[in-house]
Amino acid sequence: MSKTQETTLEIDLKALTHNYKHLKSRLQPKTKFLAVVKAFAYGSDASEIAKHLQHLEVDYFAVAYINEGIALRDAGITKPILVLHPVPVNFKTLIERCLEPSIYSLKILKEFIAIATKEKQQNYPIHIKFNTGLNRLGFNAKEVDAIISLLKNNTAIKATSIFSHLAASEDLNEKEFSLNQINKFKNIAKVFSEKIGYQPILHMCNTSGILNYPEAHFDMVRSGIGLYGFGNSEKENLNFKPISTLKSIISQIHTIDKGESLGYNRAFIATQTTQTATIPIGHADGIGRQYGNAVGFVYINSKKAPIVGNVCMDMIMVDVTNIDCKEGDEVIIFDAEHQTAENLANTTNSISYELLCCISQRIKRSFCR
Ligand SMILES: *Cc1c(COP(=O)(O)O)cnc(C)c1O
Repeated sequence: MSKTQETTLEIDLKALTHNYKHLKSRLQPKTKFLAVVKAFAYGSDASEIAKHLQHLEVDYFAVAYINEGIALRDAGITKPILVLHPVPVNFKTLIERCLEPSIYSLKILKEFIAIATKEKQQNYPIHIKFNTGLNRLGFNAKEVDAIISLLKNNTAIKATSIFSHLAASEDLNEKEFSLNQINKFKNIAKVFSEKIGYQPILHMCNTSGILNYPEAHFDMVRSGIGLYGFGNSEKENLNFKPISTLKSIISQIHTIDKGESLGYNRAFIATQTTQTATIPIGHADGIGRQYGNAVGFVYINSKKAPIVGNVCMDMIMVDVTNIDCKEGDEVIIFDAEHQTAENLANTTNSISYELLCCISQRIKRSFCR
């Protein structure tokens, strides 16, 4: 791509296609694919990503909140959209925009039935979520009978799918725990299907589940991070291409004499004559204060430059004493070659997911098609 002139998140849609095709190659041909595009498609651009994936014929989308689903409908997404964490105050809007709720408790189920009935719905698709060990959201196995009796007494709604979520699919040390979750889900699915009298779509795996537990793909899988280019292990990362490059430029270069300080609270004191470059990206853009004081790095002309001093809201300063560079030069915060979002996130004990999602919406997006 051409040299950037401002802070930009470049999104490579060809890499997205590659990742999607790789994930598909790990599935049986009949297994459906749900693309998780919550949180602006992990901090990229939900509308553009979803449009591209809709074109590639994914079967389903998922978002966390109802507002995210509305934005996708406004962008022209017509495929089914599962809302993973809806709250009742928005149920009427959810129905108006043909979004499909994850239903995770009897309270929520009853409230949704009441609204769907009032809105004169027939067989409105809902997705029943079971807790098999994550202990976050979901019914437990003992509640199957209560769910079934509510479903059987209502024609306003229909359980299109039942699903669960793995707690540690990327961690092979937790294989026994994951297999136990899978087993629990199998048992729930069997009882549920027998009692309801038809076969809902079954799904359980996120990206690492897809990669590590082929026996648990069931009828559909849900992938987020894999689409964006990370396989959550060194080995699997090789099969994916990070879709995002975060770039900026050097706004100004300063020479700081020995004993002078730099930035807020004088967090950096020069021990020798030091050249620093100021870059227009800060904690309001998703580069948190934890990356300051030589924890995080950027790349300038392929050389590693540590962030020095405290991260400001709209700027960072980096040490370029040993780097041949000038004002206007390009700065790579993360990309596929110098350091990935995962590499940078790991400097602060964070993960790719968090760094990517935090990239502020005020940063310009550009697309490589
Ligand atoms: C976010 C999420 C996913 C996607 O997980 P990845 O690890 O990004 O593939 C799948 N299922 C549920 C329920 C989620 O909340």
